[in-house]
Amino acid sequence: MLTIDSQQQLLPLLKTHFGYDSFRPNQLEVMTDVLSKKDVLAIMPTGGGKSLCFQLPALALEGTAIVVSPLIALMKDQVDVLRANGIAAAYYNSSQPSEVQQETWQQLKDGALKLLYVAPESIAHFDAVFEEIAISLFAIDEAHCISSWGHDFRPAYTQLGSLKSRFPEVPIMALTATADKATQDDIVEQLSLENASRHLASFNRPNLYLDVRPGQNRVKQILDFLEGRLDESGIIYCLSRKNTEKLAEKLQSAGFAAKAYHAGMNAAERTTVQEDFINDRTPIICATIAFGMGIDKSNVRWVIHYNLSKNLEGYYQEIGRSGRDGLPAHTLLFYSYADVVQLRKFIAASENAQVQYAKLERMQQYAEALSCRRIALLNYFGEHITEGCGNCDICKSPPTYFDATILAQKICSAVVRMKEQESMGVLIDVLRGAQNAQVYEKGHQHIKTYGTVKDISWQDLQQYVIQLLNQGVLEINFRENSRIALTPLAKDILYAKKQVQLAILQQVEESVTQKTSSSTSKKGLFEKLRVLRLQLAQEEGVPAYVVFGDASLKDMEVKQPLNHAEFAKVSGVGETKLAKYADVFLAEIAKHVDTVKPKTPTHEQTYALFQEGLSPAEIAMQRGLTENTIYSHLLKVHAQGAEVVLEELVTSKELEQIVAAKTALPDADGLKAYFEFFEEKMPYWKIKIGLYLTDNQ
Ligand code: ADP
Ligand code: ZN
Repeated sequence: MLTIDSQQQLLPLLKTHFGYDSFRPNQLEVMTDVLSKKDVLAIMPTGGGKSLCFQLPALALEGTAIVVSPLIALMKDQVDVLRANGIAAAYYNSSQPSEVQQETWQQLKDGALKLLYVAPESIAHFDAVFEEIAISLFAIDEAHCISSWGHDFRPAYTQLGSLKSRFPEVPIMALTATADKATQDDIVEQLSLENASRHLASFNRPNLYLDVRPGQNRVKQILDFLEGRLDESGIIYCLSRKNTEKLAEKLQSAGFAAKAYHAGMNAAERTTVQEDFINDRTPIICATIAFGMGIDKSNVRWVIHYNLSKNLEGYYQEIGRSGRDGLPAHTLLFYSYADVVQLRKFIAASENAQVQYAKLERMQQYAEALSCRRIALLNYFGEHITEGCGNCDICKSPPTYFDATILAQKICSAVVRMKEQESMGVLIDVLRGAQNAQVYEKGHQHIKTYGTVKDISWQDLQQYVIQLLNQGVLEINFRENSRIALTPLAKDILYAKKQVQLAILQQVEESVTQKTSSSTSKKGLFEKLRVLRLQLAQEEGVPAYVVFGDASLKDMEVKQPLNHAEFAKVSGVGETKLAKYADVFLAEIAKHVDTVKPKTPTHEQTYALFQEGLSPAEIAMQRGLTENTIYSHLLKVHAQGAEVVLEELVTSKELEQIVAAKTALPDADGLKAYFEFFEEKMPYWKIKIGLYLTDNQ
């Protein structure tokens, strides 16, 4: 089927049922294949909109779509969202009461369901009934679970391997957010989808701001970060259970609603914490990495990594839990060398240590990158972009370099004189002239470079040493007490006077306080709509985002709809939600529009800037208006008695020309005649001011 045809068929359904106006990348292509009964393998990043890829075709096709999904909580959420949009959907798993199961069973037989979600463990119960009913498609969510190459193999998934031979006519969709090449091939083989078309969406998540900061004074940095984000949901990942608890306590005593979450808590406690987070009752969770898997919360506004991650796969998955609604989200990684040492210790005890060391090294390189982080990240996943992203800390404030040749020489020389036997800590101590036992015992206080870098703080000097490591001047022998050694490059610096440039260190405070745009309108309409949403969600007993996602509320704030027709244009408003929610939300919006004081008239805004000394061209730029408009604003305020020296804008010679034109064009009607008279060489605004002046002299 042609994409154009399927687009014509699917777009109205997209708007009617989900309230969206356009497709995300790859969605239409995937859906087009399914509508023409092709099998599909779709790899899309978290938040990329995988669910819609089977939900919308399910509505367009005859019969019931069977969705296999491994996480019960996720299943329930999706069904809630579908029902809120007026779509007949149900789920089935072994934890439900049997009456509920019976009812679902009956609906399925009656052909009353457009979608049925089933846990892989339960699918065998349906063997007989599937033969009797019309099935539109099979969607295998989290399809990497079928592969032992993936990172989350689940034996129950292997039963799905026979679906293709049993239902050769029904298209099968395999969907996942994480699968490297080997896993992709394995999924296709296990499910017998040899002819599946593969859709690999970009892994880029441009709305995630990537930020990395040195891990000093982390708690203070976090408190600064949280200021002004009081109502935003976010997750702080920590390495240890104890740390999640300690940090949650510290945040609580600073007045933030934070809770800890880790695998050591009992199931009931964990569920409560998770539910409170999903429903916006607890905005901040300090968690070990177990948290967030299978949580479909779309409005997580930030993710902080208190510690360095083990590898970029994990890190990317974790930050990917923020900003699923496509709105800006801030991700902040704290990087400390101590974490690297700690992680290396963990790895040493594990099986495939070599692979893991290599992965940790890539993680470290990412954290230490001096050029666009997104380029580094996407490269790792095999996607090559060359332009800086403009939405990471490095792109926002690129490092500036200084000539560090002498500093580098001092550092390298100290390494030589300590016979390449000491760790980074001792090296820094010696350079800074520390008077501790470790230094004295070995007599390091006598070497020539002892105490020659006193003026640089311990932490800063560590950063410079790390930069030299990254530039390949120094290296660490992890297996030999992490001693620091020189590379051939270092010899060039010491003996061939090779120049060295190092990046000037950024002050920690600066960019941490940067806030996502959503915090700028705290007292605005968005906040009021959030309160209303929470109230409605509580009445209905559903998570807030089932009512509306943040993206919809933002759109309401921007569009300020005042009637049903306008409300229907808001993103995320389909027919069901229009009928159900338009009135309450419109009332709230109308109330807001009434109470906010009328906006300053546009010409007065212009005048205010003019008084600040901006030129008309600058005002035009700043306000996104044309210069002509700015000049007519100035004319207007002048006519109202404001002080604008119009004579400064038009020379006396030009004024004379305009007077002459006036005589030559006795019947001129409007400015156009003048504009043409001057052969389009005099701008409209000048003519207008000239005429105004000659009329009012
Ligand atoms: P995934 O399963 O890939 O992680 P979801 O299917 O949960 O992602 O989609 C993430 C969010 O994006 C959801 O809130 C969903 O409603 C929204 N979304 C999906 N497709 C679109 C679209 N075409 N336009 C706007 N929002 C969309
Ligand atoms: Zn960048």
